[in-house]
Amino acid sequence: MGPEIAELEQKLADYCGVREVISCSSGTDALWLPLLARSVGPDDAVFLPSFTFTATAEAVALTGATPVFVDVQEHDFNVDPDSLVAAIADIDAKGELTPRGIISVDLFGQPADYPALRTVADRHDLWLLDDAAQSFGATHDGKKVGSLADVTATSFFPAKPLGCYGDGGAIFTDDADLAEIMRSIRVHGRGTGKYDNVRIGTNARLDTMQAAILLQKLSIFDDELTARDRVARRYRDGLADVVRVPVVRNEATTAWAQYVIMTENRDRVQEALRRDGIPTQIYYPKPLHAQTAYGDYPIVPGGLPVSERLTKLVLALPMHPYLDEPTQDRIIAGVREAATAA
Ligand SMILES: *Cc1c(COP(=O)(O)O)cnc(C)c1O
Repeated sequence: MGPEIAELEQKLADYCGVREVISCSSGTDALWLPLLARSVGPDDAVFLPSFTFTATAEAVALTGATPVFVDVQEHDFNVDPDSLVAAIADIDAKGELTPRGIISVDLFGQPADYPALRTVADRHDLWLLDDAAQSFGATHDGKKVGSLADVTATSFFPAKPLGCYGDGGAIFTDDADLAEIMRSIRVHGRGTGKYDNVRIGTNARLDTMQAAILLQKLSIFDDELTARDRVARRYRDGLADVVRVPVVRNEATTAWAQYVIMTENRDRVQEALRRDGIPTQIYYPKPLHAQTAYGDYPIVPGGLPVSERLTKLVLALPMHPYLDEPTQDRIIAGVREAATAA
């Protein structure tokens, strides 16, 4: 917790236009701390998409609360507000769990539909936590990720848009009282001094060294976002007629954590690229509700057909700000050949 920590937190707050930033040790802790601070626990229900990284559900389950899985929309991979409404109604009707909050995920870098989610959250008196591990730097209606939900959690893992050289994360909010509790939980529930423990906390500090690295990387981050956008545009121009390419909603920008194409020939395309030495990744091969660890948790009535379908179609291509044009042309040619082969 050296001086670079406070400097980074201030710079991140300025960058996003929020009052409070709490740096922490990972994106997973950035999701977990706000739940602990709100005393989420047994008998509580938290609604979240099934088509996401496991950490989104893990943070909820670790508190003893119940993650309730809802479906996503095919056009932006993010929470489907209608599915969310149906899941809340179902939990309400059963009467065993208390709906507490919603975790939206800005998958692959594009913010979820926050105005729609806000309406649902307000109507049911739920808080909205943005899992922005993949979307730091993106915007919705000109407002930066970090300021779109009641609390936002991001990750600085090296594979994320703003990565450090190891693990790191941060929490964003305008709620000063909640921020104070989260700062206390970050260092073992401390009160007025180091050996005054007023609540049960954990060790979730960010290393000062990672903060120093992030300060440098933040200073070129907007240039890197522009470069990612250029790479995404070239992929779209080169591939949109042979596979489905991501659509960015008019009111949003994306951080392009991943560039994910969709094709019925996914496995063939991946194998052809692999033979050509081009790495790709499937995010995610299994929706969380189908995972061994989460199979017993409730799902929205009617199931999650979109999440299940997407797991069979999606393929993430190499994406980073320094992808040069000849290399990208090779990737595009490889996808085109495999996607169109009879
Ligand atoms: C990476 C990621 C996390 C977890 O972040 P860590 O820093 O690896 O703990 C959480 N949610 C999503 C959607 C992620 O992509």
